[in-house]
Amino acid sequence: MAEEKNTCDEVIFDSETASTLVKDLRKNFLSGKTKSYEWRVEQLKSMLKMIDENEQEILDSLRIDLSKPQLEAFVSEVSLTKSACTVALKELKKWMKPEKVGTSLTTFPSSAEIVSEPLGVILIISAWNYPFLLSLDPVIGAIAAGNSMVLKPSEISPATSSLLKRYAEKYLDSSAIRVIEGAVPETSALLEQKWDKILYTGNGRVGRIVMAAAAKHLTPVVLELGGKSPVIVDSNIDLKVATRRIAAGKWGCNNGQACIAPDYIITTKSFAPKLIDAFKCTLEEFFGENQLESKDISRIVNSNHFARLEKFLDEDKVADKIVLGGKRDKTNLKIAPTILLDVPEDSLIMNEEIFGPLLPIVTVDKVEDSFDIIRSRSKPLAAYLFTNDKKLEKEFVSSISAGGMLINDTTLHLTVHTLPFGGVGESGTGAYHGKFSFDTFSHKKGVLYRGFQGDASARYPPYTPRKQRLLRALLNGDIFGVILALIGWSKS
Ligand code: NAD
Repeated sequence: MAEEKNTCDEVIFDSETASTLVKDLRKNFLSGKTKSYEWRVEQLKSMLKMIDENEQEILDSLRIDLSKPQLEAFVSEVSLTKSACTVALKELKKWMKPEKVGTSLTTFPSSAEIVSEPLGVILIISAWNYPFLLSLDPVIGAIAAGNSMVLKPSEISPATSSLLKRYAEKYLDSSAIRVIEGAVPETSALLEQKWDKILYTGNGRVGRIVMAAAAKHLTPVVLELGGKSPVIVDSNIDLKVATRRIAAGKWGCNNGQACIAPDYIITTKSFAPKLIDAFKCTLEEFFGENQLESKDISRIVNSNHFARLEKFLDEDKVADKIVLGGKRDKTNLKIAPTILLDVPEDSLIMNEEIFGPLLPIVTVDKVEDSFDIIRSRSKPLAAYLFTNDKKLEKEFVSSISAGGMLINDTTLHLTVHTLPFGGVGESGTGAYHGKFSFDTFSHKKGVLYRGFQGDASARYPPYTPRKQRLLRALLNGDIFGVILALIGWSKS
């Protein structure tokens, strides 16, 4: 189906075009084509082929969109997408198999199972910061579960968006999988349609728009949002390893423009100077003396986001709190790794998601005090703790609510496909990755099977006192009562 063209030859994707697209996809879905195991496997294998045959071009697009260093782009976008695909291919038969479950005495004799069926036509809206991974990872789940779908990549990473469109057309079944490029008008046209599920990745403001649009059609949503992910640093740790792992999760993940990048650190007043010294060494080791020039660090995605980050830094009572870094290059959209100490609690930087290379350190008297700081804020997408104290670790896991957690490292939990990835509260709703992706895009249909034997007349009228005694005993699981009722006796 081709988008319409206006007199200036620009492609118009409006609500009418979107409606025709969804109708086509639904028709195709209802034909049953996408439900077969073979179709799912074929698409997943084609996706792997697409990645293998075009790896350099994918890395180049990420360089154009974000100056993403090649190794980082390979590890966090190409390799993670491939591994999601490989896991789905390996596990698909098992995931698709109906799950046998037990039944109760009241339905005896019977058997029961949970059948995973595809939901239908899915809308996936993705974000710019990991434009390849965040687009294809949910697509892999939607294919594995046997759905038709539309992917709307982010207009803020245009090179990757156009690459996804070209390659989807070339490698995937376009009667069931479509990529629609565009910004707010195109996404709004898509959101007006009735979908069977929407997975949106991005900020909470647009998350609310998506959820409101979905509510009109009672469409379920997965919202993969962000927030301020804290890192608690205890003083009894291996400082070198800890700072390397925090730095890798912050500046080594798209220069802090990652949903699970450490947003702020909490440590004790007495330990903070040691931590800052260790960061100085680590950052020099990672990015050299002139960190603005480093080729191993992404740029800020565009001038709007650059201005947003400058506003954090230039706020009164914040500018003088920089203890490391702080250099910027507006022309090349670069900001050096920057650490700030004890910025005011009511500053912008402590009240909005940073999503960039700035890392404030908040100090407390005792490390245990950090729990209250985290609990007083919205539930984060990720929470990190560096400690050797098992009691503190246990308390952290049991008393802090977050989308996910990681002890003594950062961001790596995202790579473990046996863990669900998603937020809680303001950081999102729903989860995916591995089997959780398959489940997210499937309906779990409960099916009970019965034969014609064992047709107990007790459940049918006329309702006699004996039937009542029998049914009461049966529903209460009172075997003795059942026997008494059957032989015509009552307990009293
Ligand atoms: P973005 O600007 O790319 O927007 C995301 C999508 O929303 C895009 O496809 C865009 O076209 C669409 N969009 C924007 N405005 C819209 C509107 N008014 N109506 C309809 N659609 C609209 O990305 P962003 O929001 O800047 O992404 C950053 C945020 O996403 C951060 O908060 C980050 O934490 C979060 N994030 C979360 C995850 C996760 O997996 N949980 C991953 C990446 C980013």
